Amino acid sequence: MSTEYPDFRLGNVLATSFTGTLSERCGNPIERIPTAQRLVDWLAVYGLAVQMCTTTQFNRARELREAIHAAATAAAIGSAPPASAIQVINDCSAAGKAAAFLTHGGKRIWKLGSTSSVEDALSVIAADAISILAGERDGKLALCASPSCQAAFFDTSQSRTRRWCDMGTCGNKEKKARFVAKRRGKARAGE
Ligand SMILES: [Zn+2]
Repeated sequence: MSTEYPDFRLGNVLATSFTGTLSERCGNPIERIPTAQRLVDWLAVYGLAVQMCTTTQFNRARELREAIHAAATAAAIGSAPPASAIQVINDCSAAGKAAAFLTHGGKRIWKLGSTSSVEDALSVIAADAISILAGERDGKLALCASPSCQAAFFDTSQSRTRRWCDMGTCGNKEKKARFVAKRRGKARAGE
């Protein structure tokens, strides 16, 4: 695996982890799937291994990502998702041949169609987004408190008070910024 690309941030929710592959959207954006191969790698991490990814499929994946981002952001602030975003999500959902399978251990996995195509994988991500946007799942869409991020994430904490899309990056950055500000404050007070 190449190290020249930004790391993946692996969240528990498929759809918002997918939108999180473009982070720092309101600052200096970090593209975590800059190539078709990186998308293939990312899908494999989420149990959606595909055989290959063409440029058209790669562009479609990014289109779906932005559609989910737009719809989730709208939902998080209580407005209606854009019709164009809903269209892309629905089209991607309909275009795949994935099926839910139950393992003997009682887990749900996804079996992609016979060709294991990107379309199949995207249909799983789209269906995941739909279940969140439709309010079917236990949790709440919210926006990351980091000003340079503001990513939509799915808050499944019991109190629904999670502030950051990702503790390891946005959460830590915020904590560090507060720490530095506090130290500066103290230094000034000691002058
Ligand atoms: Zn964030």
